[in-house]
Amino acid sequence: MTTLPQTLLQTLLQSGTPPACPACGAPGPHEVHLRPAHGEGTWPVLLCRACTARFYNPLPQTEDMKTYVEIGVLRWYLEQNVNLWFYAAQLGPVLSARALAARPPGAMLDIGCGYGFALDLAKRGFGWRVQGVEPSDYGPLGAQALGVPILQGLLTEDDPFGGQKFDLICASQVIEHIPDPGAFIDMLRRYLAPGGVIALTTPSAEAIDNQALDPGMRDALLSVGSHTVLFSAESLRRLLAARGLPHVEVRIQLDQLIAYASAAPLDLAPIDPAALLVEYLRRAIAELPDGMIREAMRGRLYRMLVEQGDYPAAELAWPSLNFPPPGSLEGVADFPEFLVKYPSNAAAIAYLRGMQILNGGRRDTAQAGAEAAVMFGWSFEICRWRCAIAGADCSEEGGMLWSARFHQAFALWVAGQPAPAAAFAREVMTASGVDAALRARAAELYGEAHVPAIVRFSRRVQRGLARRLRRLV
Ligand SMILES: [Zn+2]
Repeated sequence: MTTLPQTLLQTLLQSGTPPACPACGAPGPHEVHLRPAHGEGTWPVLLCRACTARFYNPLPQTEDMKTYVEIGVLRWYLEQNVNLWFYAAQLGPVLSARALAARPPGAMLDIGCGYGFALDLAKRGFGWRVQGVEPSDYGPLGAQALGVPILQGLLTEDDPFGGQKFDLICASQVIEHIPDPGAFIDMLRRYLAPGGVIALTTPSAEAIDNQALDPGMRDALLSVGSHTVLFSAESLRRLLAARGLPHVEVRIQLDQLIAYASAAPLDLAPIDPAALLVEYLRRAIAELPDGMIREAMRGRLYRMLVEQGDYPAAELAWPSLNFPPPGSLEGVADFPEFLVKYPSNAAAIAYLRGMQILNGGRRDTAQAGAEAAVMFGWSFEICRWRCAIAGADCSEEGGMLWSARFHQAFALWVAGQPAPAAAFAREVMTASGVDAALRARAAELYGEAHVPAIVRFSRRVQRGLARRLRRLV
């Protein structure tokens, strides 16, 4: 007999009535929709026919969310991992609408606020009074670095805010961990001011059904053993409306949902999240004291400017990064050792610097091509190294690897060096040397079962780039 997860085994032994949908309460039985791998078995996901939510059966036990944060992990989190753009997309419409209506700034509560970036965005950018709640050690670290109040723990019914009500309550990537989402919304409503808005983000259940989705991303959305309910836009809308918040808007943002709900009609301003974020980062860099968080924000601002094609502003921001010159990774044993000399996002910064030089409209085209080629080459080396060593997340670097080599070839071609350009182009078209490293890394991160799909995905990217390189060879 194969070993079943303990919780599943217990439920099978105790099971009497089929489980009701935790999102809408529709009684079972509900059909099995997916059977994602978990340990040596699987952990079934049921589909509710009434509201289209998906949910695990059995629901996972509440996990211990207190996390000890190592310094290397913290740097990676600040420089690379946290998606600030998404915070701006989630909160911007509410914060901007209030500012546009010339109403005084409100009060915001963020449940599961992490380091507190969303709180800082509302406070620093819009003058709101803010309060965070966070179980992990990111809470006190962020509270200290950003100067925002964060209560370490979980939100409960016994009002820790002395009766204060909030005009905006957000919970990003929280509701999919809750076994009883309806009770969770009821609790948030206790703290909501009249006419206030609840803003949630959560993975999209529909995205999980997309067969073309990168397997690593799919696993993150499923998070077997950690997520309880996966909401479709429709099931989330129904849940919020059923809990006394009839004015609901659910936006689909790639593989995520952003939901706004209120007892009063919603007032959401159209915004450009990138522009809002650039403004916030500029202000934070000007106001924060020197330190890891400020350095991380400089890198993030540079990235945003290049990604938006604002090359003159990026050129002005570049010197403040103090980006170490390309070096050698020979003898660098592990990620903590790498971080002594380089930022965790060095591969991306080098890549974007190459882009900025190449596309920045410089008159000395050949010289610009040569300089850009050096940065792309350095980015490629870091990506290859990150994919090959254990203990470092390489999700971004894995995706960037062949793009960096591709652009290195292109930059050399612009520099008037056709021979090395063709050599690198051929490497992109034929390389298999990194496959072994990629396989090992994929197996470590996602399990053997996913390795073929991940290698196929990487090859597809590589082949797409190779087609564009044919004319250089
Ligand atoms: Zn349901």
